[in-house]
Amino acid sequence: MIDVIIAGGGPTGMMLAGELRLHGVRVVLLERDEEPTEVVRALGLHARSLEILDQRGIVDRFLALGTKHPLAGFFAGIDRPAPERLDTKYPHTLGLPQPITERLLTEHAVESGAEIRRGRTVVGLAQDDEGVTVELADGTSLRARYLVGCDGGRSTVRKLAGIDFPGEPTRVETLLGEMEIGVPWEEAMPLMLEIRKTQKRFGIGPINGAYRVVVPADGVSEDRAVMPTLDDFKQQLVRVAGTDFGVHSPRWMSRFGDATRQASQYRSGRVFLAGDAAHIHPPTGGQGLNLGLQDAFNLGWKLAAAVHGWAPEGLLDTYEAERHPVAEEVLNNTRAQIELMKVEPGPQSVRRVFTELVQFEEVNRYLIEKIIAVRIRYDFGSSDDLVGRRIGDLALKRGGLYDQMHAGRGILLDQTGSLTVGGWADRVDHLVDVSEELDAPAVLLRPDGHVAWAGSAQEDLEGELARWFGAAA
Ligand SMILES: Cc1cc2nc3c(=O)[nH]c(=O)nc-3n(C[C@H](O)[C@H](O)[C@H](O)COP(=O)(O)OP(=O)(O)OC[C@H]3O[C@@H](n4cnc5c(N)ncnc54)[C@H](O)[C@@H]3O)c2cc1C
Repeated sequence: MIDVIIAGGGPTGMMLAGELRLHGVRVVLLERDEEPTEVVRALGLHARSLEILDQRGIVDRFLALGTKHPLAGFFAGIDRPAPERLDTKYPHTLGLPQPITERLLTEHAVESGAEIRRGRTVVGLAQDDEGVTVELADGTSLRARYLVGCDGGRSTVRKLAGIDFPGEPTRVETLLGEMEIGVPWEEAMPLMLEIRKTQKRFGIGPINGAYRVVVPADGVSEDRAVMPTLDDFKQQLVRVAGTDFGVHSPRWMSRFGDATRQASQYRSGRVFLAGDAAHIHPPTGGQGLNLGLQDAFNLGWKLAAAVHGWAPEGLLDTYEAERHPVAEEVLNNTRAQIELMKVEPGPQSVRRVFTELVQFEEVNRYLIEKIIAVRIRYDFGSSDDLVGRRIGDLALKRGGLYDQMHAGRGILLDQTGSLTVGGWADRVDHLVDVSEELDAPAVLLRPDGHVAWAGSAQEDLEGELARWFGAAA
């Protein structure tokens, strides 16, 4: 039997497929579209996503094709440089169009042995105590021990599993496309910048030898699947900017809304949700794709543990317990950003006050660290501030810590040399090394790089090994 079926081959599904394959899980990914899309939604990756790709030894592929941009203007477009000494080796954002991110993640998943089946649409599911049967639109069916819905904001899996998706519907819609402009960029740019001073939902910028055009739509469409026309773009550009910039020759045109919703639960029996299937929100701050990758990173090793039979009681439920609050926080900050970007006098006044507040270093740091997701602390019930946080790429005597994480196993990083992983050696590596950056005698790291335990007592360590890695062999 297949171990895990993933519905949806966007960034979340591909990331998850790669993570599961690290642990030898038999995974089949079903993707509705015959071909990868050329529509560029996300424009880049933030620090925590780069860190997790680094932890798996594949970040260089992304860095090679992306462009480093300073971390400025990521909170509601408020133009303030990032604070110095951010706690990450990636204190920038990596500009990388979503189709390239998806291609690189797909390549990694395939190299790792994931089976990707394109042109396959999930239309039904039924689960029992042993597994999940998934029905496809072509009339065939597949069975696996687990199913993960990574099938985007309108997730079929979520609906079939009967999971609610409460929140706010789309109230404003935005047109987005890539096309040519009929005026020289040197002429278009100053006008665009002038309008953007107040209208933050508008923008034009060079991309891939053409221009990315973003402009508020005229109301909310009844059916988002119906693509806008070039005339829609022209009409809205004239309305917002007084000129249509001579737009022509579109490569693709699309629209997106500002609906903000989160699944009431991330698990129903053997069915899980990750990425946009579990949460949607406006793209402000560029967080959605990043959030999905990080969901997959959290879920992958836990599902693998369940498949291989060593998952301790309750491990699978920690996925929702840890990731639901993180997305809730992202929804909250995007709602706040949307308010700050409104053109009415009230929100504009709040924006001015907020802009003053962001001049304080600590406020700026707090907001940027939210967006780049490096300060997340899962609640493991410990009073030690290190426990629950993700670890940075500590400099060890033998090199960077992340280089030791490629296999996705647990790690006991032991500065004392007196501890042991005993009966967990098949799941946890024992790394005796020292780092000036680590303020604890030893730390136990989960496969996702979060600190499960810090201390020096063997007995305490064994309790935590059992808590996260199951019974000793
Ligand atoms: C304009 C815009 C700009 C954005 N900018 C950013 C940004 O800068 N940074 C950022 O982090 N995020 C950004 N986002 C958000 C980001 O695009 C999404 O969060 C991300 O694509 C979610 O990835 P996913 O894999 O969860 O879902 P999706 O990318 O939606 O992928 C879902 C996949 O499932 C497939 N599928 C659907 N139904 C089925 C089915 N029944 N059976 C099989 N397959 C199915 C679909 O074909 C699709 O390939 C932006 C979004 C928009 C709209």
